[in-house]
Amino acid sequence: MTDPRTAVAAVVDPEIRVITIDELGILRAVDEDPTTGRVLVTITPTYTGCPAMDVIRADIRRALAVAGHPDAEVRTVFSPAWSTDWISEGGRAKLAAAGIAPPAPAGTAGPSPAPGSGRPPGVVPLTLAVRCPRCGSPETEQVSRFGSTACKALWRCRSCSEPFDHLKAL
Ligand SMILES: [Zn+2]
Repeated sequence: MTDPRTAVAAVVDPEIRVITIDELGILRAVDEDPTTGRVLVTITPTYTGCPAMDVIRADIRRALAVAGHPDAEVRTVFSPAWSTDWISEGGRAKLAAAGIAPPAPAGTAGPSPAPGSGRPPGVVPLTLAVRCPRCGSPETEQVSRFGSTACKALWRCRSCSEPFDHLKAL
């Protein structure tokens, strides 16, 4: 029998695939009832409308069943809300290697708003700091709010013309 925490931590995010739910920071807790052997998994979705969460729940139950823990419950908690800060260092490196721009940690100062944008100083969307994961150029533009999935946005690099997915910073 595999330790339930180990089994669940190895579940890969169904959308990003190169990163586990543990590295993505959505796995909050894995508790095993010592009497009944029942496993309670607590996860926090990256995005409330994210359809991948159903897949993740099913994958967690499957991983636990394979590991010898067929009796499992997956609980979803929304508070505290997931933030891109919860992505581990290793997870960020994997995202970059896969061509997905890792979101800047929340609170990172972005570039100043363009003059006349009407945006109050200090309120800077994190998306302004997106760099191309291929060539590193900051000359990027958002093509679509919704990329290959509801949780990612599609961007394009003006320097190398490559499109890339960007995780929405929350
Ligand atoms: Zn580029």
